[in-house]
Amino acid sequence: MTILVTGGAGYIGSHTVRALQRQGFSVVVLDNLVYGHADIVEILGVPLVQGQVGDRPLLDQLLRGDHPACAGEPMEAVLHFAAYAYVGESVADPARYYRNNLGDSLTLLEALLAEGQRRGEAPVPIVFSSTCATYGIPEPDQIPIRESCPQRPINPYGRSKQMVEQLLADFGEAYGLPSVIFRYFNAAGADPAGDLGEDHTPETHLIPLVLDAISGRLAELQIYGDDYPTPDGTCIRDYIHVCDLADAHVLGLQRLLADKGRHIYNLGTGTGASVQQVIDAAMATTQRGLLARVAPRRPGDPPVLVASAEKAQIELGWRPRYPELSTILAHAWAWHQRLHSTNP
Ligand code: UDP
Repeated sequence: MTILVTGGAGYIGSHTVRALQRQGFSVVVLDNLVYGHADIVEILGVPLVQGQVGDRPLLDQLLRGDHPACAGEPMEAVLHFAAYAYVGESVADPARYYRNNLGDSLTLLEALLAEGQRRGEAPVPIVFSSTCATYGIPEPDQIPIRESCPQRPINPYGRSKQMVEQLLADFGEAYGLPSVIFRYFNAAGADPAGDLGEDHTPETHLIPLVLDAISGRLAELQIYGDDYPTPDGTCIRDYIHVCDLADAHVLGLQRLLADKGRHIYNLGTGTGASVQQVIDAAMATTQRGLLARVAPRRPGDPPVLVASAEKAQIELGWRPRYPELSTILAHAWAWHQRLHSTNP
């Protein structure tokens, strides 16, 4: 059974491709390589089609299995990771975000409907990467965040994701489009095999920046605010191992293929760590120090984002294999050292 993975050359997409392969799925990756890495897809050993999700003729060809990369196999489902995901950039250039994240997703959904019609079946199912950024700034009594928490995104990135969620709801009602929506909390860590991991340019995420500061690639880590209403004053997030995210996608896909339903799940560990706790844990894991300085708050950062991931655990039987921050950091550190030994 062959699955189309958009954004499979990216961080979460590439780990999910490996999880799919381990469960016996064949994969074709579609990625525009703006932020993705062709060499990662090569490591995975799956066909890479460089292109845009908004390219409808290309999508039709891929879904039908007519593209040379498909080896004659039609796509049984799509895992849709491809998106731009820099909050600041989305504020500065929203058109680019709505075109890529929303406009291209609409084209994809239309292609899924058309391919279903052509086959005389339900539309081709889709697993969609959404984000806890769709919740905006939750009230303290809404933590841990359940899927029913009101969604009030505060930037174009979060809104572009919420709008695609809305498309999926409406297309599900009207056309019977089967979908799973995963709302990720803070993806972190790397495949323990050491050959896949996080490689963003520019890097804005806390854990890789902490490791950059530890390895000396960054002179000083900035802590964005220490006056939040949290025990140590720094922001609390729910860091979830990227391989656990990947496993959840396989379970979600299996469920979707079986029931052709519509499901929404948060993916987090249910445990929060503050910026200061991440720094302390990283120093303990690496046995090294770093320079950190308190800087002004970053606009739009909620004080606390922690998931209730019960629903995915109960309905999908999902159990994070690496819930401990220390394990996430150890895997991220191993990847970081390998990445920068070959690519200083
Ligand atoms: N953060 C920080 N310094 C940095 C990068 C991030 O203090 O150089 C903080 C940020 O304010 C947030 C947390 O670390 O509270 C996680 O940020 P990240 O960008 O990794 O993920 P986000 O929660 O924004 O999706």
